[in-house]
Amino acid sequence: MTALTKPVRTRVAPSPTGDPHVGTAYVALFNLCFARQHGGQFILRIEDTDQVRSTPESEQQILASLKWLGLNWDEGPDVGGPHAPYRQSERSDIYKTHANILLEKGHAFRCFCTAERLEQLRAEQTAAKGALGYDGHCTGLSADEVSRRLAAGEPHVIRMKVPRPAADAPREETTCEINDLLRGTIAIDWKEVDMQVLMKADGLPTYHLANVVDDHLMEITHVLRGEEWISSAPKHKLLYQYFGWDMPQLCHMPLLRNPDKSKLSKRKNPTSITYYERMGYLPEALLNYLGRMGWSMPDEREQFTLAEMIANFDVQRVSLGGPIFDVEKLAWLNGQWLKGLTPQQFVAAFQRWITPDYLARVASQIQTRVSTLSEAVDKAGFFFAGKVALTPESFAHKSLTPDQVKTILQLALWELEALRAWQHEGIADLLQRLSAFLGIKMRDFMAPFFVSMAGSPSAPPVMEAMAIMGPDMTRARLREAIAVLGGVSKKEAKELEKLLAAFRRGEPLAVSPTP
Ligand code: GLU
Repeated sequence: MTALTKPVRTRVAPSPTGDPHVGTAYVALFNLCFARQHGGQFILRIEDTDQVRSTPESEQQILASLKWLGLNWDEGPDVGGPHAPYRQSERSDIYKTHANILLEKGHAFRCFCTAERLEQLRAEQTAAKGALGYDGHCTGLSADEVSRRLAAGEPHVIRMKVPRPAADAPREETTCEINDLLRGTIAIDWKEVDMQVLMKADGLPTYHLANVVDDHLMEITHVLRGEEWISSAPKHKLLYQYFGWDMPQLCHMPLLRNPDKSKLSKRKNPTSITYYERMGYLPEALLNYLGRMGWSMPDEREQFTLAEMIANFDVQRVSLGGPIFDVEKLAWLNGQWLKGLTPQQFVAAFQRWITPDYLARVASQIQTRVSTLSEAVDKAGFFFAGKVALTPESFAHKSLTPDQVKTILQLALWELEALRAWQHEGIADLLQRLSAFLGIKMRDFMAPFFVSMAGSPSAPPVMEAMAIMGPDMTRARLREAIAVLGGVSKKEAKELEKLLAAFRRGEPLAVSPTP
């Protein structure tokens, strides 16, 4: 365990692969409070080793959202610091050097197994209902063979070695013990720990190597992170041992959950911080709500500021039962915050909310469609509203049945959940393909989207509006529209899922989408 005599340094290490998630803000908040309470530092590091999924836009949004919330870091890619660079894609040489150290010490090995071999291995392990994972095939290669294959330029990865004690070995050899600040000792069998790839064939590190090397070099003393990382802890512990480094104190925070107790997901709840910003939540209120996720003030008061949370912070007060992220409770708390503002503060909050950037994007959609500015208020209202007023009648259409409308909206919603880059082109391409698949003319097909998004079939271009309003707001409106139309029963969902699968396979529509 790291002695508290070292200055406390914590970090949040988001991967810029999507919208800024409330879970990232939650983890950042607790790391910040822990560091500040100990007079320490809080660092932001960008973990963009996944070159395919990481984007600069996502990084920029994550930084902007955390700043909007008032979570300020002492070191990071934007502010620099003594351990720069703070973006893993700029630290490749550091990881290479460290992977080589592990190879030289015999703690890692080069693995030349092909994708086909690994697939076959997996299939065999699955069929035998045994544990999945690498079987150590390449650990037996002689130094000569490795040199020969390297000289021949064979693609390969670098994997870490993991103890494989005999089944009857004593327990201290068969299990790895992890010390967690909240959970005490967690025992994990070594046989459940895979010989993790540390360096990929493209010469870039995986999360595990980069994370451990950076936490050490950046002198991180405490790692507060989501509980989904518990199973990675043995690999990390082993890497610290292999390098001969002290391991930071681990602390796995409970996962945020939907009201039905499932893991918080964008399928059921808006999860993007930008959605809550757009909805008009105050950053102070969202932060306050996140602070109440598994934690409470000593006097149990519901409303508190970040400064008050820091002053009263004690990580031992985190309770492990999965905290429920309930949008209705958040709305109540936000209302309390709004009521507590002075009239001047309320006006200021309102002005901050209509950001010049958002206003400019909205204005670009309506400028040519109005003859007076007052008309703009009506035309642009839906861009600012949280929900639009809808009834089943709002969707009445001359050539679409209510079932067809539901089919269109539900299929689009599922596909939009999977859409990676949220831009006009991607949305347009998806909706056009879906309309062709369903055999519904684009003009008719789009009508339910105008109604869902803007409340009226005559609105500014709706795909542009979806792009501007963002994925979470768009999905929330489509979900609401489906609910107004009576929702999708389990039976209907099964049928629609079959349709979706056919669409994804690129098959033509075999049956009419409506009964
Ligand atoms: N990059 C990881 C994430 O996105 C960080 C996990 C950790 O804190 O170790 O959650």
